[in-house]
Amino acid sequence: EQLLQVKQLSARVEDTSILHGIDLNINEGETHVLMGPNGAGKSTLGYTLMGSPRYEVTGGEVLFKGKDLLAESADQRAKDGLFLSFQSPLEVPGISLRNFIRTSVEQRTGSRIKLWTFKKELEKAMEVLQMDPSYGDRDLNVGFSGGEKKKAEILQLLMLKPSLAILDETDSGLDVDAVRMVSKGVEEYQKDKKGALLIITHSTRILESLHVDQTHVMVAGKIVASGDASLVDEINEHGFERFL
Ligand code: ADP
Ligand code: MG
Ligand code: MG
Repeated sequence: EQLLQVKQLSARVEDTSILHGIDLNINEGETHVLMGPNGAGKSTLGYTLMGSPRYEVTGGEVLFKGKDLLAESADQRAKDGLFLSFQSPLEVPGISLRNFIRTSVEQRTGSRIKLWTFKKELEKAMEVLQMDPSYGDRDLNVGFSGGEKKKAEILQLLMLKPSLAILDETDSGLDVDAVRMVSKGVEEYQKDKKGALLIITHSTRILESLHVDQTHVMVAGKIVASGDASLVDEINEHGFERFL
C-alpha cells in the first residue's frame, strides 16, 4: 500500500542547499497537496524525485514501490510510474502531441498499442478536457496557449496512468475555465482510485472538486506542517504567516 516513502531527503542545486530533511509518505491512491511560499523548494522536491540531473541529493533516501528510487535514471522512474507535470511545458517542434503520447505510453507499458485503439482512447481523454482532436496532429506545445499546454500535460497524465503524479502548479496562470478543465482531468485520474497525486499549488480553486487526503506546508526546504484538507482552507484564509 505504501507507494512513496521519502526519508530525510536533502538536496542542492548548483552550490545551494535547498531541501533540508524532507519526510513524506504517500500511499497508493492518495492525494496530497503541497503548499508553501515562493522559493520554499516545492519544485526542487518534484525535480529531485523525478531525477533531474540539475539537482543533487545530499542525504536521505526515497523508496518508490519499495525500490530505491534515487538509484534509478529519470527514464526508469517514469517507466516505474512516476510522472511530473511541468510548470512551464517545453515546446517540441517536429513531434506531434499524438505521437509523443503514443511513444510515451508504449515506453511505459513496454508494448505496442494498435493505432486505432490508441486514437480512440486519446480522443476520449481529449473530450474530458474539451480539447479539439485536431490538437493531436499539432507539434507538441508549439504555439499552444498557457491553458492548452497545461491541458496537454493533463492529457499525458490521463493516457500514461502513472502510479504517482506530481503536478507542479499546473493551475497557475490559468483563467477560471482552464482551471476547471484541468481540475476535471485530475478528477478523472482520481476516479481510477489507484493513481496517487502530489499537487503543488498556490490556489485552492483546483482543489474544490478534488478529494484531498493530506496537506503539507513547505517553508525554506522543510515540511513545517501536515494536516488534512482543512489546512488548505486555513492557508487560504490566513496565508503562511504562522508557519514562517
Ligand atoms: P518553489 O517551487 O517552492 O517556489 P523552488 O524549488 O523553485 O521553489 O526554488 C527553491 C530555491 O532554490 C529558490 O531559492 C531558488 O532560487 C533556488 N533555485 C532553484 N533552481 C535553482 C538553480 N538552478 N540554481 C540556483 N538556485 C536555484
Ligand atoms: Mg514558485
Ligand atoms: Mg515552483
